Amino acid sequence: MRAIIRRGSCLCGAVQFHVTGDPITMTYCHCESCRRWVGAPVMGGCLFHSSQVQIVTGEDKLTLYKRSSDTGSLRRFCCDCGSALFNEHPGIKLTDIMAVSIPDLEFKPRLHTNYAEKIVSFHDGLPKYKDFDPAVGGSGETMPD
Ligand SMILES: [Zn+2]
Ligand SMILES: [Zn+2]
Repeated sequence: MRAIIRRGSCLCGAVQFHVTGDPITMTYCHCESCRRWVGAPVMGGCLFHSSQVQIVTGEDKLTLYKRSSDTGSLRRFCCDCGSALFNEHPGIKLTDIMAVSIPDLEFKPRLHTNYAEKIVSFHDGLPKYKDFDPAVGGSGETMPD
């Protein structure tokens, strides 16, 4: 059986990419870095193994930003339209892709990360990790809504 391939892109379309297969998980991230990066009160991300992600066109348009206080994250965005696209985590070989950039993938978040930094509360019954899911190296400590 062949794995499903979905297409994604930035707002202007200069950067086009494919993801092969389903994401490992989908999450909301409430950390300050993600919020400021996407310019929204929360970030919706789809976590993939980096090997599932392939840039088709526009690799030269992808600009990298690495925040000094968040060295495990390499944030890539389109230099033409500014769309946040990939938050790469080379240490664990995972890439968080902004959910809105993959239109064919229905966003079904399973948990909240970095809820300790939240500025907006969710009452959705999903687990709310103080930092990260233990499956990706977090403490696994949860918080109330
Ligand atoms: Zn663009
Ligand atoms: Zn974050």
